[in-house]
Amino acid sequence: MNKILILILALSFISCKTKAQNKTKKIKSKMSDKVEKTEEEWKAQLTEQEYYVLRKSGTDRPSDAGYTLHFEKGTYVCRACNTQLFKSNSKYKSHCGWPSFDDAIEGTIIYKKDASLGRVRTEIICAKCDGHLGHVFDDGPVETTGKRYCVNTSSIKFVEK
Ligand SMILES: [Zn+2]
Repeated sequence: MNKILILILALSFISCKTKAQNKTKKIKSKMSDKVEKTEEEWKAQLTEQEYYVLRKSGTDRPSDAGYTLHFEKGTYVCRACNTQLFKSNSKYKSHCGWPSFDDAIEGTIIYKKDASLGRVRTEIICAKCDGHLGHVFDDGPVETTGKRYCVNTSSIKFVEK
């Protein structure tokens, strides 16, 4: 009888231990999902313009250069942390001077109210590294989503399919 009791106790102890270990693992992996670096580390990794746009919420000058008129098949990833953000099939010609997409890859972007420059806009940020990407507006193509993700070339990097 005592032996059985000890066995039950031992088994429940083991199962408790595994549960607790799993829990710690889950919390750890959730925290490590986020890419966090010091300002010095970002400066070392990015060019001056990329750092200004991604880390200081700067804006590229409007231009047809960079990815504005770039229409090859592939994916645009975050230039700071390589997270896939936009697919080439959601890119379109908006004539606004910045790369424009009518949609983003789900769950990769944080939307934040931005009341700077005397108007309210929605800032878009990489969910993984908090890098500034640009803004999203409601004047996109009506035949698809109606959204215009206005993204800085300095914030993204094209990866060919
Ligand atoms: Zn990122």
